[in-house]
Amino acid sequence: MTGTEGHLGSTDVVIVGGGVGGASLAYALASAGVGVTLLEGTVEYEDRVRGESMHAWGVAEARELGVEDVLLAAGAHVAPVWKQYAEGLGQTGEIPMSAMVPGVEGTLNLHHPTACQALVDAAVEAGATAVRGTRDVKLRFGDPISVSYRTPRGEGALTSPLVVGADGRNSTVRRQVGLTLDRQPAVSHIAGLLVDGLGDVPDDHDVMVTIAGSNLLLLVFHQGGGRARTYLATGVEGRSRFAGREGTRRFLEACAVSCLPWSDRLVAAEPAGPCATYPGDDTWTEAPYADGVVLIGDAAGHNDPIVGQGLSIAMRDARAVRDLVLDGAHRAGDFSSYGAERVERMRRVRLIADIVAAATVEDAANRGARLGFFGEKMAAMDPELFPLMMGLFAGPETIPAELVDDRILVQIRNA
Ligand SMILES: Cc1cc2nc3c(=O)[nH]c(=O)nc-3n(C[C@H](O)[C@H](O)[C@H](O)COP(=O)(O)OP(=O)(O)OC[C@H]3O[C@@H](n4cnc5c(N)ncnc54)[C@H](O)[C@@H]3O)c2cc1C
Repeated sequence: MTGTEGHLGSTDVVIVGGGVGGASLAYALASAGVGVTLLEGTVEYEDRVRGESMHAWGVAEARELGVEDVLLAAGAHVAPVWKQYAEGLGQTGEIPMSAMVPGVEGTLNLHHPTACQALVDAAVEAGATAVRGTRDVKLRFGDPISVSYRTPRGEGALTSPLVVGADGRNSTVRRQVGLTLDRQPAVSHIAGLLVDGLGDVPDDHDVMVTIAGSNLLLLVFHQGGGRARTYLATGVEGRSRFAGREGTRRFLEACAVSCLPWSDRLVAAEPAGPCATYPGDDTWTEAPYADGVVLIGDAAGHNDPIVGQGLSIAMRDARAVRDLVLDGAHRAGDFSSYGAERVERMRRVRLIADIVAAATVEDAANRGARLGFFGEKMAAMDPELFPLMMGLFAGPETIPAELVDDRILVQIRNA
C-alpha cells in the first residue's frame, strides 16, 4: 500500500472510493498501463455488513476484470449449490450454481473487508497509487478536473481528465457533479451478521429459508473454516427487530427453524462482527456520467440487497467502464452505452427484488398465500417466473424481454 501525500501532479484516472467496485476498476486499469490514483476514505476496512456473496454472473465479470484470482487467493469460498427450505415444508429446492454461467463453478463468498484490502493491494502491485484516510474530496470541474483532498498526514491535489465516483450510496462525486438518483422506497429491511463456529456444518451450499410464520427470510453464505455471513430480511414493520444491544441475540434466536437440519448450530454460533439493518430501497439513474465523471457501483444506484446483486452489479460496472476508458472515454457521451445498459439492468434486478420481497416478507395480510403461490410456481418451474428468478444467478440480461413487466408481481400480491 502506498500512502503518498502532497501535490501528486496529474494522472489518467482518479477513482474516489476503494470498495469492491473502485478497487477492482483500479486494478484492471493499472494492469492495462493506465495511470490510476485511488482515494479511499478509510484507513482500514471494517465490517459494515455488506455483500459477501457474488453470484455467478458477477464472478464471470470478475474473471473478465482479472480480479477473480485476487479474490480466490484472498480465501474466497466457492459454493456450487443453492438450497431452498421453507418452514413447515422442509427442503423445497436445490439449484446448481455451476449451471448458471459456462465455466463458473458457483457463488464466490468472501469477507467484505478482506476482499477490499486484497483488491487494493493488487491494484497497487499493478501500478496504481492508493491514498488511504482521505477526507473532504473536492472536485473543480474543467478539462482536466482538479481534485483536492485531506488526509491525517496533509493535503493532496492532482488533475485528471476522468474522475470515477465509486464512493458508495452517499457518493460525494455524484453530489458534486449534480447527478441525482430515482428512488423506490423499501418494502423490506435486511439485517446481517457474520458468524463463526459452523465447523461441523456442510459448507458446500448456500441457503435460503422462508419462514412465513415469523415473516422472515434467512440467508446463509458459507465462507469456509466454519464462518458464514447470515442475513435476515423482514418487512418494514420489522425494521427494528434486530436493533439495539439485544439485536445480535435476537438475530441468532430467530435463526431457529425446524426445516434446516443444522439451524441449532446457527443459533449457537459465535457473532464475528456487528449486527446491522439496512432498508431494502432501490435507486438508479439513466445517466451515471457527466463530462469527465462516471459513477460505478452503489454510487450509480443500488439494488435492494434482498437479492444480493450489488457485488455483481459493481463488477459489471467496473468491466464496462474499463473497456470504455481503454478506448479513450472521458466525455459524457462516451459513456452513454454504459448508462443505457445499466438502466435496463437495474430495472430487471429491481423487478426480481420486488418479486422476492413481495413473496417472502412484504407486510401484507395474505403473506402465507403469497408464499404458497410463489413456492408452487417455482416448484413447477413456471415459465413466467422461473426464468426471472434464474436471472438472479445467470445475469439479468438472460431474462426474456417479454417477462420483464409486473404481471407476476401483481399476481403474487393478489394471491
Ligand atoms: C445488508 C446488505 C447485504 C448485502 N448483501 C449482498 C450480497 O449478498 N451480495 C451482493 O452482491 N451484494 C450485497 N450487498 C450490496 C453490496 O454490498 C454493495 O452493492 C457493494 O458493496 C457496492 O460496492 P461499491 O464499491 O460500489 O460501494 P461500497 O461498498 O459502499 O464502497 C465505497 C467505498 O468508498 C469509500 N468512500 C465513501 N465515500 C468516500 C469519500 N468521500 N472519499 C473517499 N472514499 C469514500 C468507502 O469507504 C468505501 O470503501 C448488500 C448490501 C447490504 C447493505
